[in-house]
Amino acid sequence: MVDRVICGRWDWSRNLVGPVLLEEFREMLTMCQQVLLEPGKDKIFWSGDPSGEFAVSNLKIILVEKELVKHVSVFEWNNWNPKKVGFVAWRAVLNRLLTFEALARRSIPVSSTKCPVCGMEEESADHILFLCEVAQAVWCLISQWFKVPPIYAFRVQDLVELHRNMSAPKDKAKAFHAVCLVTMWWIWKKRNDLVHNGASVHFQSLFEVIKSLSYLWIKIRSKKRGLINLGGLV
Ligand SMILES: [Zn+2]
Repeated sequence: MVDRVICGRWDWSRNLVGPVLLEEFREMLTMCQQVLLEPGKDKIFWSGDPSGEFAVSNLKIILVEKELVKHVSVFEWNNWNPKKVGFVAWRAVLNRLLTFEALARRSIPVSSTKCPVCGMEEESADHILFLCEVAQAVWCLISQWFKVPPIYAFRVQDLVELHRNMSAPKDKAKAFHAVCLVTMWWIWKKRNDLVHNGASVHFQSLFEVIKSLSYLWIKIRSKKRGLINLGGLV
C-alpha cells in the first residue's frame, strides 16, 4: 500500500483474452484506483444508503431510477427457441451488445466504429439488427414470409414487441415472436463471422437459414402441428 492506495503485481493463471474480459478488467482497475484505505477496523458498508445498511426498498428505488426494473420486466423470452437465441435480443434491449460503437463507448480500442456489413453508419445494436440495409432486406423477407405488413422499428425494443400488435391467435403471435428472436440472433452471429473470419453476409442466405431454423425449432418445441410451415404461418 502506497499513500493509502493499493499497489500490487498481477500474476495471471491465464491471459486476458477477448473484449469482455478486458473490459471487466479495466472496470475493476478503475474501481480499485478509487479505493483509499483508512486506518481502523474494516466494516461492510452498502453505498446505496447513507446509513450503510442494506435495504431491499432502497435497492428497488435505485433500480427504478436507473430504469433497470422496467427493462428486465419488459423482455419476453420464448421457449420455442433454444435459450442462446434470446440472449442476443436480451443484451441488445439492455444496450449491452458489444457492437463497435458500444466498445468505443467503453474506451476499448477499435479500428473503426462503422458497421462492418455496410460500412456506412455507426454500428449500434439498432443499426446492425434493423437499420442496416442488409438487416432491412431480411426483415422485409420475414414480413413477406409471414404475410404481414412491412416491419418498421426504430429500436430493438420495437422488434421484440412486434408480436404484441399482431391480430393473430396467441400461438401464432408466439411463433412470430420466436422468428423475430431467431432473426436478431442469426444476423448478429453472421456479423461476428464477418468480423472474425471475413465471412460474407448476404440477406437472402441469412433469410433462408432463419426460415429453416425457425421452422425446425418451432415444430419440435411447440409440439403443435401446422402452426408454422416454410410458407409462413398457416
Ligand atoms: Zn450497416
